[in-house]
Amino acid sequence: MDFELPDEYEQLRLTVAEFARDAVAPVIAEYYIKGEFPYELVRQMAQMGLFGLPFDEQVGGMGGDYLALCVALEEIARVDSSLAITLEAAVSLGAMPIYRFGTQEQKAQWLPLLAKGEVLGAFGLTEPGGGTDAGGTRTTARLEGDEWVINGSKAFITNSGTDITGFVTVTAVTGQRADGRPEISAILVPSGTDGFVVAPGYAKVGWDASDTHELSFTDARVPAANLIGERGRGYSQFLQILDEGRVAIAALATGLAQGCVDESVSYAKQREAFGRPIGAAQAVAFQIADMDARAHTSRLAWRAAAATLVAGRPFKREAAIAKLVASDAAMLNARAATQVFGGAGFTIEVPVGRFYRDAKVLEIGEGTNEVQRLLIARELGLPVTW
Ligand SMILES: Cc1cc2nc3c(=O)[nH]c(=O)nc-3n(C[C@H](O)[C@H](O)[C@H](O)COP(=O)(O)OP(=O)(O)OC[C@H]3O[C@@H](n4cnc5c(N)ncnc54)[C@H](O)[C@@H]3O)c2cc1C
Repeated sequence: MDFELPDEYEQLRLTVAEFARDAVAPVIAEYYIKGEFPYELVRQMAQMGLFGLPFDEQVGGMGGDYLALCVALEEIARVDSSLAITLEAAVSLGAMPIYRFGTQEQKAQWLPLLAKGEVLGAFGLTEPGGGTDAGGTRTTARLEGDEWVINGSKAFITNSGTDITGFVTVTAVTGQRADGRPEISAILVPSGTDGFVVAPGYAKVGWDASDTHELSFTDARVPAANLIGERGRGYSQFLQILDEGRVAIAALATGLAQGCVDESVSYAKQREAFGRPIGAAQAVAFQIADMDARAHTSRLAWRAAAATLVAGRPFKREAAIAKLVASDAAMLNARAATQVFGGAGFTIEVPVGRFYRDAKVLEIGEGTNEVQRLLIARELGLPVTW
């Protein structure tokens, strides 16, 4: 049993860590404070091949796997979560539905652009009426001739309104199943489609340099060929995508938790009170020791989930546990790190202030932590229902 990353992943980790330290850390506060999307940093990530990490070389990818993506996400989130979620959402939510379920034509049209980071795809599941009850989708798509006509709205969709956004894939009710339940399908809607409107960005609590919008569709028409995968399989396809996405979010949360350790260790060594470094006080040192234990545990959890996924074994429980443990760790570490910094931590000009704001959404996005507990309980065979 080996808990170390294999060499090629460790090399990737070091390369991304260097990028995060040298290119992201010096400039990200400015983007965050202005609430601007960091196009230049996204371009640099694209040049490094990060958007293509888990995709085959035939479609323009780097020939890596999901573990590689997670390794990169942890190192970026160690410095900044807005950039990390931009990469996570683009790869695991935007491109992955096409990679896993798309037709040959859809793959040929979109994957080379997505894998090179020249175009971002978005994933539209959540609606203003609810995200947890995603099966209650109200957006509809009716087939008229050789076109889908889409009506409805989606809420909180990441990467949906950037200058390089190419499309959003939405879940929509396309009919009724034999058992009377709605038939839900996934349909790709290109940016600029008539009737598809992107609202101004949200004023968020965190992830300020990432792009999030509400979307509305009024008789938006797209070709019938824009169906992703099988008609009526959209909901289950999206749930599969979310299982994988949870491993990625766990890696991202671990990065934030580790960033809190990094920042706190360095601050507690140099900040003095009562004539000695604050890290000499057990109350401070023990908080940092607890932070380190949580970051370490989270890393073990997401790596175990990623290894299970990559090995092709069932990983639903492992993914839910990793997301639950790592997002809790991120929240607790961000709170503790801000405390270690005192007043200096209560500004978004410093990383821990941004970590504090960015941590909360990790308990919400890609399935709330209540959803993770439900998934774990079900995997244990408990007869739990909503
Ligand atoms: C910054 C940001 C980016 C996002 N990006 C995307 C994206 O790219 N694509 C996308 O589709 N979505 C995205 N989301 C949406 C996110 O996935 C949802 O917010 C999340 O799934 C929760 O849905 P909701 O907000 O509608 O909360 P609700 O479903 O209304 O839930 C509210 C609360 O009630 C709890 N709850 C609900 N039902 C029960 C129950 N029966 N028992 C116990 N507790 C329950 C939930 O756990 C939660 O705590 C994003 C959200 C944010 C904030």
